[in-house]
Amino acid sequence: MKRIWLYNAELLCPDGQVYGGLTVEEGRIAAILPGDAQPVGDFEKIDLRGTFLAPGFIDIHVHGGGGSDFMDGTPESFEAALSMHLAHGTTALCPTTLAAEFDELGRVFDLCRQFRQAPDAGTRPRILGAHLEGPYIAASMKGAQDEKYIRSPEDGSYRDILKRAGGMLRIWTVAPELLGIEALEKAARSEGVLLSAGHSDGRFEDLERAAQNGYTMVTHLYSSMSTIIRENGMRRPGILEAALLLDGLTAEVIADGMHLPPSLLRLIVKTKGADGIVLVTDAMRGAGMPAGIYKLGSLRRGQDVISDGQIARMPDGISFAGSVATTDRLVRVMTREAGVPLWQAVRMVTLNPARALGLEEIGVLQAGRRADLVVLGPDLHVCAVYRDGRRVWEKSGKGDRET
Ligand SMILES: [Zn+2]
Repeated sequence: MKRIWLYNAELLCPDGQVYGGLTVEEGRIAAILPGDAQPVGDFEKIDLRGTFLAPGFIDIHVHGGGGSDFMDGTPESFEAALSMHLAHGTTALCPTTLAAEFDELGRVFDLCRQFRQAPDAGTRPRILGAHLEGPYIAASMKGAQDEKYIRSPEDGSYRDILKRAGGMLRIWTVAPELLGIEALEKAARSEGVLLSAGHSDGRFEDLERAAQNGYTMVTHLYSSMSTIIRENGMRRPGILEAALLLDGLTAEVIADGMHLPPSLLRLIVKTKGADGIVLVTDAMRGAGMPAGIYKLGSLRRGQDVISDGQIARMPDGISFAGSVATTDRLVRVMTREAGVPLWQAVRMVTLNPARALGLEEIGVLQAGRRADLVVLGPDLHVCAVYRDGRRVWEKSGKGDRET
């Protein structure tokens, strides 16, 4: 395998921006070379001309894109969604499902396994395992989920899902206030599945209990979760306030510039800190596609939603139905609208999700890590993407532009 030296770049490291370069050997970052330092030996030289070099982006909540949904159930649909997100800098992701028939969830597990083991897997984003969003959620906080597939953990069916997953289930979004949820939590923990509280109508105490019982994340902060209510005039905080307050919980943030205004993005950064946030797209099939009508969920059983190219909405024209964002757009929004430094926005979609999932191999520009890399131009659009040190995508010249 070729040895390469990427130089003349602004390296986006977890603690700041550093001018310099790095070398890649055997698919891994071999050395970080600050300033004008040069490697010793034979390397293919790649001049990045002062552009930004970041670790590959990691999206732990993404339903689809490029006209496909991971729940469509075919290899072609996986391929289409993966290649669209790769072109926007995503080098690792969790295919995410909605509440659905179990056969559809099972098919997603099968395809995750198939794509992870494929001989050409190295040309696509890494499959980190599935993220199940439901079906054990609060009907009153269903958001864009189809109510007829929502279940209660009391029926014990979660055991069938865990069995069917065969190790391919990584993150499970559940509502921690549901009756019988403790048994699900125990079963999920014993399989190493990460628990994320979401689509929840619980009170502050429910998330407090959850955090003490192994939940480490909160699903799309502010969306589909309870907030302050008043009882006899007294204010009772909800899931949102607990998520902001409790340090042990990392918050998913859909920073597409539509779900949350700049003021709330800034409030989240102030309360959770740069370490406590994971940027996610929550993208549906309309991501990377022109405006139009798209199915949310599988082609067979999904519901029609309308994308204007910036956001997908339910047929009522008001409620949001997932996003049409890509990871590079999240980085642009966080820097431009929330005012965080670029290196910090990048950290929220690289090192933070890697840590949330306990991944040691990816997510940071550091010797020894896998050389999954993204080159960003001055406008923060993606110029090139590397996986294991191999260039797997490059901007063709004209290229399509998104905001
Ligand atoms: Zn989602």
